[in-house]
Amino acid sequence: MDKALLKKAAIQSVALMITVVTLSYALEHYQTVTIAASNLESKATINTSTQHDITLLNEDLTEAPENSSEDKVTNTVITTLEDLTTKVDDSILEKLGDNYIIIQKPSAKNMTLQLEDLYINKSIRVTLTGMTNAVLTSGMVSRVKGNELFTGDPAFNEIISTKVDEKKGTSEEVTTKDFGRDLCHGITIITQEDEGTKQYTAQVLIELDSIYAYVVYEDVNYYLIDLKKPSEVYDKILVIDAGHGGKDGGALSKGEKYYEKNINLDILLHLKELLDKENIKVYYTRTADDTVFLRPRVTLANAVDCDYFISIHCNANEVTWPNGTEVLYYDNEYKGVSAVELANLFSDEVGKAVSLKQRGIVEKQMEDIFIMDKSVVPTILIEVGYLTNSSDMAYLSKSENRKAVAQGIYNGIMRAYNELPVAEEGK
Ligand SMILES: [Zn+2]
Repeated sequence: MDKALLKKAAIQSVALMITVVTLSYALEHYQTVTIAASNLESKATINTSTQHDITLLNEDLTEAPENSSEDKVTNTVITTLEDLTTKVDDSILEKLGDNYIIIQKPSAKNMTLQLEDLYINKSIRVTLTGMTNAVLTSGMVSRVKGNELFTGDPAFNEIISTKVDEKKGTSEEVTTKDFGRDLCHGITIITQEDEGTKQYTAQVLIELDSIYAYVVYEDVNYYLIDLKKPSEVYDKILVIDAGHGGKDGGALSKGEKYYEKNINLDILLHLKELLDKENIKVYYTRTADDTVFLRPRVTLANAVDCDYFISIHCNANEVTWPNGTEVLYYDNEYKGVSAVELANLFSDEVGKAVSLKQRGIVEKQMEDIFIMDKSVVPTILIEVGYLTNSSDMAYLSKSENRKAVAQGIYNGIMRAYNELPVAEEGK
């Protein structure tokens, strides 16, 4: 399948980290991909360009096949690769890549599947509705990685190692789980009965080894979720990070009136509005006041192999006089993009868009900033202004000014895509 088709079929997580693809076998094969934003947590909107990408079925499908043989399903658990070739529709097997998940349908008639991409947790949540029985177990969930097949709860070995911190002179025992080659690291299933319809809904949380782009297929007996590298599906990939969030407020203004986390998030949401109109796949580390640790943020950036990883922050100081915008970077280069060039470009563009003092770019190193230390992809951190400076704070307290910051970052992104080398590798 070529990239354009893949993109059409893949789940577009436009709204939150969560976007839902619905499949229903009662409708015609493969034409039933609809997309709807989950309205969990916050106002979710789907941008129009994405809606155009997806075949939407608005009409009532009166000709949906009446399948009276709901319990005559011939499906059985898939435990070997041979099972696959005999039990799964060949036309689907041809389309699948090296990594995919197979979920055996508990019943055949009028079931629907929704898939939510919980990428910050390397997980997906699959919701199956319209089940006529409550029998969905982890034994009905298989996955293929290359020429290996795994079924049921993932097996793991516990590895106990000693972590020594030479600086602090401490050591501690750390237990990690080794799942071998299984790409699944956990399956949790919750099944509920709907009193009215007497049907069952199952939520299947599948923890994975990485972050993928998902393409869902189905035949009579199985759902198949193809796991693609995001770069196989999307031409342009960004990760945008609103610093801090939830329990971590970040810097504080004088008198603790303003929290950095809220200003960062508001700038990100303005930026998101602009990026929603572009043909760019954007992963946001958060789109609400959530507590998100640093490691999953940088893991996300590396796992999706984004073109640019942009982190939005505000500065603070013990004294009140420092003010202005600066862009932090580490001196490194990835796929022909040097971080210093990227930092310069954003410093220019944010500088043009806002009326704060331009402090320029600042090179950081090694362990100064965790996400920059651990990131492989081109990364910059924009310190928009000083919350501890009264004129910067007055500026950032106005919504229109935060919008101007977002516009500056957006202009930087567009210029980066135009001017900096585009990595072809793996795309
Ligand atoms: Zn910060």
